[in-house]
Amino acid sequence: MNNVNLSNLSRRSFIAAAGLGAATAVFAPRLLFAQEIGIVPTMINEAARAKIEVFPLRRNISVLEGSGGNIAVLTGKGGKLLIDSGFTVSRARIATALDSLSSAPITQLINTHWHVDHTDGNAWVHSAGATITAHENTKKRLSTSTRVEGWSYTFPPAPAGAIPTTVFDDEHHAHHNDTRIALKYYGRAHTDSDISVLFEEADIIHVGDTWWNGFYPFIDYSTGGSIDGMIRASERNLTIVTDKTIIIPGHGPVGNKAGLTEYHDMLVTIRNNVAELKKQGKSLSETIAAKPSAAYDTKWGQFLMKPAIFTGLVYSGV
Ligand SMILES: [Zn+2]
Repeated sequence: MNNVNLSNLSRRSFIAAAGLGAATAVFAPRLLFAQEIGIVPTMINEAARAKIEVFPLRRNISVLEGSGGNIAVLTGKGGKLLIDSGFTVSRARIATALDSLSSAPITQLINTHWHVDHTDGNAWVHSAGATITAHENTKKRLSTSTRVEGWSYTFPPAPAGAIPTTVFDDEHHAHHNDTRIALKYYGRAHTDSDISVLFEEADIIHVGDTWWNGFYPFIDYSTGGSIDGMIRASERNLTIVTDKTIIIPGHGPVGNKAGLTEYHDMLVTIRNNVAELKKQGKSLSETIAAKPSAAYDTKWGQFLMKPAIFTGLVYSGV
């Protein structure tokens, strides 16, 4: 799944832009580039151009990449079940990709969390026939005006059809297309609304934005996220999966336990390095100058989500 192609590059550039938005708003507003149009319009523009790629995974489950977060699809007689809905600007290309899998309608949609790159398509997916399931905080966040400081953006309430109607607090179990599906809340992690979705027979799990495969992740402190919450979520993910489990991250290529372990260890080491510097009384700029993420920057920080940006996100939470 480590395909290098236009779509992947395009997706990477939008993720990178997300990092820029995070940094500028969290701790360095003066660094905003004049040409920067803002992260949310940037993400939408990228999704409007991106090709939607379909990767069959195992049994009747596939993943669609190219419009915001990774979209999982379970096909079958009971209609398609989607995990996350991407951006509305991708509707026509997502619909074409879904048609290539089967002619069944969409009947179910699950949101991994409330962020726009995972829920913007909710309204059209609902209008196509889907019932929407999510954590209760996803419903709460989508129902009201919500500010993400890291993106310098305030989202208006989502339209009525986009709001999840089946919500839960800790866990929820469903059965669809002869597949058992387990939904489980992480607690506060990347936001306060993150859940994992496990397809039990297929041994495939969508872990939402608790894992960005190949990039330093964005952490949304505005709506309950934190570096320690991200680490706890990664630890839980590692207790759930085996070497055979297929893991769908929120962003980046589909991966496995080895990749997830590497990501977890990276988070822990950088967190501890930053915490130690902060404990010594170092300011944010002194902490960034000490390069606490240096050992990981080549692999994880090579896009616009620069080491300094991620260091700032970690510093905010230790
Ligand atoms: Zn997110």
